[in-house]
Amino acid sequence: MNKTFTNLPTILLNSVLAVLYISLNSFTTPPDSSKNPAFRFKTVVIDAGHGGKDPGTHGLHSTEKEVALSIAKKLRKAIQEQMPILNVVMTRTDDTFIPLDERSAIANRHNGNLFISIHCNSSPEGTGYSDHKQKGTLMLVYALHRSAEQLEAIRENSSIYIEKDYQAKYRSYDEDDPVNRILMNAYMHKYRKQSILFGDLLNKEFKNGGRQTIGVKEQSILVLAHSAMPAVMIETGFINNPRDEDYIASDAGQDEIVQVIMNALKEYRVETAVQ
Ligand SMILES: [Zn+2]
Repeated sequence: MNKTFTNLPTILLNSVLAVLYISLNSFTTPPDSSKNPAFRFKTVVIDAGHGGKDPGTHGLHSTEKEVALSIAKKLRKAIQEQMPILNVVMTRTDDTFIPLDERSAIANRHNGNLFISIHCNSSPEGTGYSDHKQKGTLMLVYALHRSAEQLEAIRENSSIYIEKDYQAKYRSYDEDDPVNRILMNAYMHKYRKQSILFGDLLNKEFKNGGRQTIGVKEQSILVLAHSAMPAVMIETGFINNPRDEDYIASDAGQDEIVQVIMNALKEYRVETAVQ
């Protein structure tokens, strides 16, 4: 009797402590979703390259900014229809010039989980040259390094020169600055693995779809550098190669490209869920 009486406050105290412990614990440590990133994979950012005063590169009858926007809009529609669980954020929906740093800012503001930048490639062979060696798709992932072969990076990064204040504005992208190097290296290491995974899946699906593919390359692509999420730039084809241009500028070709991206996106969601 005496024992039970003395134990009662202890039991009550223990219960209070247990409740307190559980509430504190659930407050300070959110549910561990690291084993199920698909749960967190909610928002895809689609970035249609170039726009407005920046046409990008061009072919005989189309410009990169038009092709990129058209594919981006078709991709948005396909995600809404086939993967309605995902939110879609567009960096542009019309023919507007959006600076590169603003594209990353839009993606980060919306807490994007994957950044897909749509572009067209162009080789130095010139437009409409009939015996083109260069054709097919290329996936680009951000890397902090300067290699001899950075053709695409030089071309895609040149959009910044259209902006008057680019020198001041893009100071934080200067890879020679040690502070920037640390920041960009950290981003690269954090998101590199998943960016390459998505790039590889895209490359495989383009191949399965019968397209020639160059593969997945790592280059210093500025629009990918400050996006705090896995990010891939898709060079959908060589717009200055007449055959590639006819394909990527056509409705049928764009629909196929979008379906390839959808296949890769579905696989990516599954693969990241079991990691
Ligand atoms: Zn481009």
